[in-house]
Amino acid sequence: MGCDQACSACKSSNVWVMSPLRYIFFMSVLPVLAAVLFAVIIHAGFVLFIPAVILTNHMLSKKKAPLVVCRDCKHTAAQPKGKSHYSSAL
Ligand SMILES: [Zn+2]
Repeated sequence: MGCDQACSACKSSNVWVMSPLRYIFFMSVLPVLAAVLFAVIIHAGFVLFIPAVILTNHMLSKKKAPLVVCRDCKHTAAQPKGKSHYSSAL
C-alpha cells in the first residue's frame, strides 16, 4: 500500500501520516473547547472564535499537512511535496 514513508530523523518506518483533515481536527480541538468553555462561563460571543480557529487551521493545513509523525522519536516533519499523494492514493 505504498507505505514507504520514513522518519527523517531516525530513519524509522514506524511513522504516522497526519492528513490535512486530521491536522485541522487536532489543531482545532483545544481552542474550540476553550471557546465553548468561555462562551458558557463568560460570554456567548466567544463562539465567534470557533469558525475563526477552524478557518485558520484550515489555511495552516494547506501549508503544513500532510505531516509525518514518527512513533519512535516523536519527530514531526512535513511530508515532502512531489508526486501527488492524493491522486495516487485513490
Ligand atoms: Zn524518528
